[in-house]
Amino acid sequence: MDPSALRPETLAVHAGHHPDTAFGAVAPPLVTTSTYLHGAPGERGYGRTTNPTWEALEELVAAFEGGAAAVAMASGMAAISAVLELVPPGGRVVAASNGYSGTRVLLRHLAATGRVSVALVPVEDTAAVAGALAPGADLLCLETISNPLLTVCDLPACIAAARGTGARVMVDNTLATPLGVHPLDLGADVVVHSLTKYVGGHSDLIAGCAVVRETALAERLRFVRQEVGGIPGQLEAWLALRGARTMVLRVERQTANAAELARRLEGHPEVIRVHHPGLASHPQHALAAGLLRGGACALVAVEVRGGAERADAVCEAAQLWAHTTSLGGVESMMERRSRYDVDAEVCSPGLIRLSAGVEHVDDLHADLLRALELTAHLAPGPAAPPR
Ligand SMILES: *Cc1c(COP(=O)(O)O)cnc(C)c1O
Repeated sequence: MDPSALRPETLAVHAGHHPDTAFGAVAPPLVTTSTYLHGAPGERGYGRTTNPTWEALEELVAAFEGGAAAVAMASGMAAISAVLELVPPGGRVVAASNGYSGTRVLLRHLAATGRVSVALVPVEDTAAVAGALAPGADLLCLETISNPLLTVCDLPACIAAARGTGARVMVDNTLATPLGVHPLDLGADVVVHSLTKYVGGHSDLIAGCAVVRETALAERLRFVRQEVGGIPGQLEAWLALRGARTMVLRVERQTANAAELARRLEGHPEVIRVHHPGLASHPQHALAAGLLRGGACALVAVEVRGGAERADAVCEAAQLWAHTTSLGGVESMMERRSRYDVDAEVCSPGLIRLSAGVEHVDDLHADLLRALELTAHLAPGPAAPPR
């Protein structure tokens, strides 16, 4: 059946699902092997080249993103590195100044070692993006939704700015998920995901992938994967595939929970500001409504009164919210992002990033209210004025 005719709910269950001819197993097998017999069907050769479990995952993720092919990688960062590997020596990379901390750290490293030159630009400013691209850039790195401020990138405008400049466009779609938007349909060349987050969804694996519009690019990324060696674990690929089958259900609940929590927390006297694209107060609310299915994402960023000390205390006081880094799991998670220097550059000291899980929203809300109440003594003085 033509995958492009199917909706994500159906693809999630059926893409990459082939009948098992050996045993008739309904669930796809976890194939653990370092090598394949010469002459065996598929002629896979060596285990660093490919694996049937990776292939099933790749089929599903490619179908999710409407891409021609996907290349599974060891992690989201391995996928991003593989795309950067294709930039020629001394090439020029333009990237979002509010992008994922790991990507910014890697780009700085590559710039410091002279591998490439890097311009970090605010992607909200399309003119700035176009200006930075003009002198012969090789790659534009965008993120559909930034982390931790949840700025929404005007993908159509930024991709249009890159068109005709010769720059390849990579979009990190981890936070938006393939449910939110398909950047390849908007003209991006490659979409990367940390499968660790919403696709895996259970906080039990690290994996990534790159999805491309043209198969020739997939071949180049497979070459990098094979020769640099950033291959996904077989078990991780199997877990990611298993997780992906329920991604739609999870992400829908997580997105609804985040939107509801954002609404309930905005205006709370202990909260200075709530960042969430579903709120009318969000600077790109209208853009998000047009670009993202459901107009929102499953994260909320909350600035609490009392700065870093209060924010840490809130994270410690909450009982249902795991105090941890990362996001996208079925369990709700929270963290003060300014604990990382690279994020302190872009967010205020008291900003807590909430990753909504699939729990009941009333329980999550009550836990946050309790944590705010228990820590109120850390933020003396007048409460924030009602918005
Ligand atoms: C986590 C994350 C990454 C890195 O993924 P890993 O699987 O941890 O390597 C990249 N981009 C975004 C937006 C992320 O949230």
